[in-house]
This record gives sequence, C-alpha cells and structure tokens, in this order.
Amino acid sequence: MVRQHAINVSGTWFLWVNILFSAFILGRNYFSPGNLAAGPHYPRYLLEVSLVLVLALSSSVIFILRMAPEQQAPWLSKLMRGTIVCLSGLWALCFYVFIASGDVRIVFPFSALLIFTALISLYFDGRVLLSFTLPVWGVILICNFVYPTTLTALNAILYCLMAALFESGRRILRSWFVLAVRREQENADLINQLKLLANRDPLTGVANRRAFQLLLDKEIQRQHQTHAELSLIMLDVDHFKKYNDRYGHQAGDECLIKVVHSIENATRNSQDVVARFGGEEFIMLLPDTSQQQAAMIAERIKMSLQAMALEHKSSPVAPFVTLSQGIASCGAGTSAVQLIAEADAALYQAKAAGRNRWQRYQA
Ligand code: GH3
Ligand code: MG
Ligand code: MG
Repeated sequence: MVRQHAINVSGTWFLWVNILFSAFILGRNYFSPGNLAAGPHYPRYLLEVSLVLVLALSSSVIFILRMAPEQQAPWLSKLMRGTIVCLSGLWALCFYVFIASGDVRIVFPFSALLIFTALISLYFDGRVLLSFTLPVWGVILICNFVYPTTLTALNAILYCLMAALFESGRRILRSWFVLAVRREQENADLINQLKLLANRDPLTGVANRRAFQLLLDKEIQRQHQTHAELSLIMLDVDHFKKYNDRYGHQAGDECLIKVVHSIENATRNSQDVVARFGGEEFIMLLPDTSQQQAAMIAERIKMSLQAMALEHKSSPVAPFVTLSQGIASCGAGTSAVQLIAEADAALYQAKAAGRNRWQRYQA
C-alpha cells in the first residue's frame, strides 16, 4: 500500500523529468541541428519519434493520474509501472541513435541524469527501477563495443563506476525506506494498542463505560433509523461489600473477573457487548434483542453463576455469589440516558424484590 502510493507520487515527478529531458533534446535538435551529423547508422526519424512518444506518454499518464476518481486504485500504479518500462525502451532507442550517429557527448550526462533521477524516484521498487535502468545501460554498453570508435574503454569504465555508485545509493535509500515504513507500522500498532487500552476495563478486560456509551449511542441512532429492537441489562453483584469485608479486596477482584466470565458465557455473538459500568456493576448491550429475549439471557446468566457457585458465606441471599439484573428495551424515541435510567430502575426493583433475580422495566 505504501509502495503503491509512493510509486504514484514519485513516479509523477519522474514523468515530469522525462518530459523536461525529451523537450530539451528535441529543442536542441531543432535549434542546432548541426549537432547531429548524418551517418550511415543514423535513422533520424527514430530519435524524433521516440522523443515525441516520451513526451506524449508521460504527459498523458500524468493527466490520467490527475483525473482518476480514486487516487489509490491499484490500476494506477500498474499503469505507472508499465509506462516506466515503455519509457526505458524509448530512451534506450534514443541513446542508440546518438551513439550510432556519433553524437556521444550528450549520452553520458543524459543517461547519468536519467538513471540517477530514476534512482531517486523509484529506489523503493527494485523491479521497476531495474526495468528502467537496465535497458538504457545495456544499450550504451553494447554500443560501446559495436561502435568502438565513438565510445572508448574509458567510457565503459565510467559506466561501470556509475553502476557501482547507483547500486550503493539504491541500497542506502532502500534501507531508509524500509526503516520509515517499519516505524510507521510500529506507530500505528502503538496507537491501536492505546485505543484498545482506552476502551477496556483493566481489571476484567471487558469494555469500559466510555466505550459502552459510544456503542450505545451508535446503536440507539441505528435503532431510530431502522426501528430494530435493542435491549439493555444492568447487572449488580449482590452484597459485594460484604464479600470484600469477608474475603478481602484481592479476592473481591478475582470474584469480579469470574462473574464477568459467567456473564460473557451467556452472550450469543460478537454483537452482544458486556461492559463494566462501575464498581461491581456491569451492563450488557443487546442489539436486535427484544425484552423477552433479554430476559432469557438474564436467566442464563443467573443459572451460569449458580453453576459456578462462587462461595459467599456472608450473603443473606444465597451461599454463593449472586447478581440482580434490570432489563430495559428501547422504544420509539427512547434516548440513551432514558434507557440506562430504565434499566437502573428495573435493577432497583430486582434488589427490592429480594435480589438474585432479574426484573423487566415497567413504566
Ligand atoms: P447491593 O446488594 O445492594 O448491591 O450491595 P453491595 O454491597 O453490593 O453494594 P455497595 O454499593 O454497598 O458496595 C459495592 C462494593 O463494591 C463496595 C466496593 O468496595 C466494592 N467494589 C467496587 N469496585 C470494586 C473493585 O474493583 N474491586 C473490589 N474488590 N471491590 C470493589
Ligand atoms: Mg452490589
Ligand atoms: Mg452497586
């Protein structure tokens, strides 16, 4: 993804370089045609055709990139890669014409500039970079042997030196690129971890009140749009103060974790959210759930806790840890605050009715 974005951005810059170079050579030929001596190997039209093609191809690809409705589309980077390969062929042809016609003075500075600008803009994509530079290099080196009078052994050494510089530069730039991408990934992971921490209750690992509130607001909005059913269960551990007093705060913490496990066992899918509302109070967000279905879940939680039988000898309700639960469902126009207040009122009724039970909200 990063590479795709990078090739679109720096590839565009490289296309501008191509436009500039081809326009310069075309202008040079136009204003001082004497530079090119007509020789037996000189097919002049080949040079002009390929330079015009470089100009046309580069400018149309820049135009397409600007106009593309979706800038991140994968076909754009494919187009860029294909264009760069085509440009390489055209430049190789140009340099062949220069060498064949004896106009070698322009070959070294231009090929060096072209190859090093390719390095600057394409160093992160070894395949595209090599597919651009190798044909250009290959043509120059081969011509060096085919036309020994125009290119000397010194030139060949120069090109080999350039290759060494090119490769070492590519490696250094690539290592920076890899480092930058890795840092970015690490930062993104860190931000995700922090987000996760900001939304989780550190003791029990379930969602905290803040995350719950955000989810509830989102679900209520959805409920108002689609009229889907939505229920809440507010849960409170019975006589938990007495538990702490008898078994200690540490044991109280462990008890809360086990209570959360039994609540989570009763959830049906990833849509059901268990959150810690505060202290020994929890809340369940049940999207697409009627009050009757919520009551069935509440009963399952009660049974699950009963089966777990966490000892609570100080509880006047039962010899094990129990919960009281209040159920409320979202009607037309019910707000988040109202829904929580209704679940809380139902919980109060369950407490008043003797605890270790669930109660639906009745207006
Ligand atoms: P009720 O049946 O009416 O709900 O009585 P209760 O004792 O459960 O309720 P109360 O609100 O009087 O006390 C809640 C207790 O929960 C007091 C507090 O020390 C304890 N508590 C709250 N958060 C934690 C926690 O994170 N760890 C532990 N161990 N105890 C907690
Ligand atoms: Mg309590
Ligand atoms: Mg309480």
